[in-house]
Amino acid sequence: MDLGIKGKTAIVCAGSKGLGRGCAEALAEAGVSLILNARSKDVLEATAEDIRRTYGVTVTTVACDVTTEAGREALLAACPNPDILVNNAGGPPPGDFRDWDRSHWIAALDANMLTPIFLIKAVVDGMMARGFGRVVNITSAAVKAPIDILGLSNGARSGLTGFVAGVARKTIARGVTINALLPGPFETDRIQQTAKSAAAASGRDVEAVLAERRAANPAGRFGTRQEFGAACAFLCSQHAGFITGQNILIDGGAYPGTM
Ligand code: NAD
Repeated sequence: MDLGIKGKTAIVCAGSKGLGRGCAEALAEAGVSLILNARSKDVLEATAEDIRRTYGVTVTTVACDVTTEAGREALLAACPNPDILVNNAGGPPPGDFRDWDRSHWIAALDANMLTPIFLIKAVVDGMMARGFGRVVNITSAAVKAPIDILGLSNGARSGLTGFVAGVARKTIARGVTINALLPGPFETDRIQQTAKSAAAASGRDVEAVLAERRAANPAGRFGTRQEFGAACAFLCSQHAGFITGQNILIDGGAYPGTM
């Protein structure tokens, strides 16, 4: 399918690895030029070079922490008028809410709620003026069904989801959609980290924890970044102009509800 976005420009945050990388690759395959961000310069450059070589699109790198004001300024200076914005950042650490003080909550809110909100604020009026824009927020299946050890994530991402539910209805008449993709378990570094924590807490082997998690999913496996990226690219396509304010689970059927 021709996604109809060849020649557009996308900012992809936290895109050197994992789900963000999957989104960057799928957009590049559709002919979209990228402003690619991540913290670690070496990994970011290697990913950017891989994408340039494979898809022949322009990839500009901005190595910074997108959850800081300086990071966001650097990103927007490299691309003040993107057609597409993919919001992403590392997830908050797992733990027990009794151990979290104000600083833990502020860090989670900064990373997973306020950073996407400030980036949307910075680009959405330009998108509306130009009559086309796509924002995809990578959140989590935890927005739909909370994960007990990820209270910081449950809370911060639900805040973002509530904000977007309002604003996404204000932009679509001018060609701008804002949606979220809610990943269930995906084969990325993040799932390795959470499995390590679970293994340490229960005194089990990491591989055993991972195998158990794969088996517990109706698909019998984790998702891949390519599957995630393809859904993102579709939401960013010309064909998805009537989809806004939605929270789309990609979880292999793990959520047990009818809707
Ligand atoms: P990952 O650890 O595989 O990759 C994270 C990427 O983000 C890397 O490129 C890293 O450099 C970059 N990054 C992290 N923090 C950053 C920051 N502050 N500024 C700029 N770049 C930053 O993670 P992932 O599995 O791709 O997860 C992406 C998001 O999706 C996370 O918020 C995670 O919590 C969430 N999520 C993932 C899963 C899963 O199964 N993988 C499930 C639910 C939610």
